[in-house]
Amino acid sequence: MQSHDLARKTIWSAIYLLFILAPLFALLAGTLPPARGFGTEFSVALGYSGLAMMGLQFGLTARFRHVTEPWGEDVIYHFHRRVSLLAVGLVVVHPLILLAIGSDKLAMPASLGEVPWGAWFAVLSIGAVIVLVITALWRKQLKIPYELWHLSHIALALIAIFGGVLHMIGWGFYLADPLKRALWIGMTLFWIALLLYVRLFKPLFMLRRPYRITEVRSERGDTTTLVMQPDGHAGFRFKPGQFGWLTVWGSPFRITGHPFSFSSSAEAAQGRVEMTIRNLGDFTSQVKTIEAGQRVYLDGPYGAFTIGQPTDMHVLIAGGIGITPMMSMIRTLADRGDSRPLVLLYGGRNQDSLTFREELDALQARLDLRVVYVLAEPPEGWSGETGHINAAMFRRHLPPGYADHEYFICGPDPMMDAIERALGEMDVPRTRYHSERYSFV
Ligand SMILES: Cc1cc2nc3c(=O)[nH]c(=O)nc-3n(C[C@H](O)[C@H](O)[C@H](O)COP(=O)(O)OP(=O)(O)OC[C@H]3O[C@@H](n4cnc5c(N)ncnc54)[C@H](O)[C@@H]3O)c2cc1C
Repeated sequence: MQSHDLARKTIWSAIYLLFILAPLFALLAGTLPPARGFGTEFSVALGYSGLAMMGLQFGLTARFRHVTEPWGEDVIYHFHRRVSLLAVGLVVVHPLILLAIGSDKLAMPASLGEVPWGAWFAVLSIGAVIVLVITALWRKQLKIPYELWHLSHIALALIAIFGGVLHMIGWGFYLADPLKRALWIGMTLFWIALLLYVRLFKPLFMLRRPYRITEVRSERGDTTTLVMQPDGHAGFRFKPGQFGWLTVWGSPFRITGHPFSFSSSAEAAQGRVEMTIRNLGDFTSQVKTIEAGQRVYLDGPYGAFTIGQPTDMHVLIAGGIGITPMMSMIRTLADRGDSRPLVLLYGGRNQDSLTFREELDALQARLDLRVVYVLAEPPEGWSGETGHINAAMFRRHLPPGYADHEYFICGPDPMMDAIERALGEMDVPRTRYHSERYSFV
């Protein structure tokens, strides 16, 4: 890992911890309320921490490039999911502790009308949190379409967080102190600002920087390439391997954009970018119907899956549509006249599913590139590799000194797990391989 990446990771982690812990320290500092039992204090502290963590989730998913870059977007989303579970655990355990210690806070009043409003918001918030977790963990099993889930995920998160804040104000035992009250109001305003940034300011920015489709190219493997050109602005520069969020129909205010790697060379002129999209679901099945001239919106570039560090050779390992970032890397290295050796291991079902096959074959003349196709369903007479990419294939096709090469892996999750394990067994250090998972959300 480069040292400036480590420094950025340390700084952002410290800021994150500060945000999570500051409310707790502030609550304990200064004038303390008359002591209640330890159980009550502990339970309240957990509730506050959980709420602060939940609010900061808006920051984790706000796609701040400078924050996400040292880790990569997939790691940030993974962290978002893990921290959500912790935050939700804290929020749910908070009333359970009060229940366990028989706190009078949970004593049922004679009629529902006497239940304090702060308690209703607690019920609303915890209810929203439980539905949020269930739908996030089992979205596929519950067969909830992605866009509907995304919309409900944001709505439930808002209900959970603002319900929590209102519960806190309604029950505001600790918030009598004006300074502490100011801190929580500040935190709440910060969360709202994050939300406005993502849902209002960023889309407004994108609205002023549209792209135009200049070509729609049909590729092998039920796949389509969109060629896009900035419309009235200079566009952005990306590093090969990075990705962007694409909105084709509707405005950038639409909740759901779709992530796709850039497949074109990072050296392409006039801000031209290409995305190569395989038909795998609702949105992707419509891509081939897009016509040249259509206006689209791109949010990017994102991701840390990119070449750039000095290395003796690059080893690219692609499965299926995981070829797209590799294609960008290969095209870019060819345009830069890079003379370092490059090996691509490319797994697919059959020859017809190998997107970019002809171009890859041609590129072997322009670069020190060797392409090894690995077919799960080989045709009769196929003399190349078959089955799934594995450690034995690395030993057959790579020069020894495995720990000195730089590896890039992108493909279906089971393939990526197997390859990461194989590299581990070959004593390739973790810093030498990079993975891009297409299933991070
Ligand atoms: C970093 C990254 C880069 C990617 N690059 C490529 C690429 O170069 N080429 C390519 O063909 N595919 C790529 N994908 C996968 C692509 O984003 C999904 O296949 C596509 O969004 C599926 O949408 P759908 O509506 O057609 O499918 P659906 O049937 O609606 O969804 C299939 C699955 O795709 C995921 N998905 C759906 N919509 C979204 C969304 N808006 N955001 C995130 N995930 C979603 C969900 O897990 C869902 O269960 C990439 C994914 C990621 C995360």
